[in-house]
Amino acid sequence: MADLADLPLRDDLRGLSPYGAPQTTVPIALNVNENTHPLPEIVAHGIVTSLAKAVLTLNRYPDREFTALRESLANYLGGGLSATNLWAANGSNEILQQLFQAFGGPGRAALGFQPTYSMYPILARGTGTGWIGGSRDEEFRLSPDSAVRQVREHSPSIVILCSPNNPTGTPLSSDVITAVYDATDGIVVVDEAYAEFAAAGTASALELLPGRERLVVSRTMSKAFAFAGVRLGYLAADPAVIDALRLVRLPYHLSSLTQAAAIAALDNADILLATVADIAAQRDRLLAALPALGYPVLPSDANFVLFGGVADPPGMFGELLARGILVRDVGIPGHLRVTAGTEAEVTAFLAALTDITPR
Ligand SMILES: *Cc1c(COP(=O)(O)O)cnc(C)c1O
Repeated sequence: MADLADLPLRDDLRGLSPYGAPQTTVPIALNVNENTHPLPEIVAHGIVTSLAKAVLTLNRYPDREFTALRESLANYLGGGLSATNLWAANGSNEILQQLFQAFGGPGRAALGFQPTYSMYPILARGTGTGWIGGSRDEEFRLSPDSAVRQVREHSPSIVILCSPNNPTGTPLSSDVITAVYDATDGIVVVDEAYAEFAAAGTASALELLPGRERLVVSRTMSKAFAFAGVRLGYLAADPAVIDALRLVRLPYHLSSLTQAAAIAALDNADILLATVADIAAQRDRLLAALPALGYPVLPSDANFVLFGGVADPPGMFGELLARGILVRDVGIPGHLRVTAGTEAEVTAFLAALTDITPR
């Protein structure tokens, strides 16, 4: 077998590591912010019925414009959006990749505010887009002034705002989004992968779309919808943005099976999202219990919590793994990230942590 170094790989990919959240089988996986509740059987049956119909047409290419799915997504989001404002792909990672392909590329740069989602620089690299790792304050917040200053300093073609931010959970106010939008001629992407977990009444960037043709709101069915295995991400934007993405997407990129499964899931959105309140309650339980054990937390509007006070993150990661619990070491010194799972999973995590914590 050859070594990677033996191949004529692109110079800018030499020496890099791939995205690598460990994927091991453990009793309790709280590492990649999935919804850990299994799909309700009634929804599973609806999906299977829908898939069974789609299977009979697999001799044909899928609907390239996935119009029925875009209608379902527009219907789910509401707020006056129509299918012409919606676009979908295999996970919001592919959505972001298409945005980078269309609006980034060689000679252009994307700006994000670190620590933030680890895939942004990887997607930038893969599309030949420069990556600018902007900064946040000591508590990982981002103010309109700081964001605007950094946008003006770098003049990026794409600004990515993660709201709430992964891996910190930090909410983002609408002021930051509008200030950034006004400070750039580029595309402003708001990644709302965790929007459904925010407190009731929290504003979504969707409300800011009217009149802002360079604003894009990215969402996913991987988190709240308990649908990570299907790979379905989507965005809402001005239809002109979607025309741009048609230039770079692969033809028929969403399989007939993906479209059928996602439509059936959206038909049952209320049942699928019924676990969101439980998960938010477990997140709030973590936010209260971790400080009591001596681990300060950051406020979180998502389905995960970043906690500090960890003297040796890789060591604690290993101790938890030895007890069958997988969390995430996101590389922030003194911190680990844990997903809010089911009540039983959170109980097991807190018991293991209590066991590990020196007294
Ligand atoms: C999990 C996550 C996504 C989701 O990616 P998919 O490709 O839709 O599974 C997107 N953005 C952020 C910030 C995430 O944490």
